[in-house]
Amino acid sequence: MITQLSRRSFLAAAALAAGAAAWPRRTLAAAPLATAQGPAAYRYRLGDFQLTALYDGTWFLPIDGKFVTNASGAEVNEALAAAFLPPDIMPISITALLVNTGSKLVLIDCGSAGQIADTAGFLNANLAAAGHTPDDIDIILISHLHPDHINGLRTKDGGKVFPNAQILVPEPEWTFWMDDGNQSRATGSVLGYFRNARRIFADIAKDVQRFKPGAEIVPGIVAVPAYGHTPGHTAFSVQSGTQSMLVMSDTVRNPELFARHPDWQPIFDMDGALAVTTRRRMLDRAAADRMLVGAYHFPFPACGHMIKTATGYELVPSMWRPL
Ligand SMILES: [Zn+2]
Repeated sequence: MITQLSRRSFLAAAALAAGAAAWPRRTLAAAPLATAQGPAAYRYRLGDFQLTALYDGTWFLPIDGKFVTNASGAEVNEALAAAFLPPDIMPISITALLVNTGSKLVLIDCGSAGQIADTAGFLNANLAAAGHTPDDIDIILISHLHPDHINGLRTKDGGKVFPNAQILVPEPEWTFWMDDGNQSRATGSVLGYFRNARRIFADIAKDVQRFKPGAEIVPGIVAVPAYGHTPGHTAFSVQSGTQSMLVMSDTVRNPELFARHPDWQPIFDMDGALAVTTRRRMLDRAAADRMLVGAYHFPFPACGHMIKTATGYELVPSMWRPL
């Protein structure tokens, strides 16, 4: 005797079999799983300039309760959970910005060259995907001398990566890191940053050009002082025609932590209080003027707009779109 239930099961199985016959490809052998992401280069326009976001990778930094000096580990983990991120790990996404002004290819900061984490160091692969080689780069603008912004100038074994590029650094930043007295007073990770900066610039220091805060470095790109993260930390205003963009460098870093909680002072900021003032000033301006912003540690493609909320700021990421 066929029960109601088994009759239903039979009908369902028959329907499935009919479906399989109608859609035979759905049951063919599975494709192998991919082992790598696709290229991560994203182009967009700004006036007559063409910008390309070049992803270098993500550094998953383990953090403890002391990572933010004026918030507890529990509060930081709560903010990570609110962004659907696991606790005790700070995901530091790295994206450099290539600006094609029509006459020059300008790269703003240059990735980690695999010298910080195995999960970062893909900038040149993505530069190739965007149709360029390192030889094509005319100018490299450095925002500050932390390793994740300058290590891309060298291969792991010390070779020069961008043989034809002029390298330009902020004057106050250079003065700070190249001062032997400052280095002699440094300890811990900051001492490491001093040694790293000297390794990277060892035999090219004499060729490095320095620019002053507020200077127009190349036509359409102006240095904007953004001190606090480091003594000479610099943002950039990029303008072409009637369109402009604020490249905030490390003023904010992870938006889910430091845009939502602009007063938080991570140990990365060498002068935490000054960094907060700079962050608030820049985010206020970006939100009030509805400016397009870019930031080195925003999620790829690391550009969008900021809106002011009751307690802080929120990133509205740019939507991926055809050129
Ligand atoms: Zn950084």
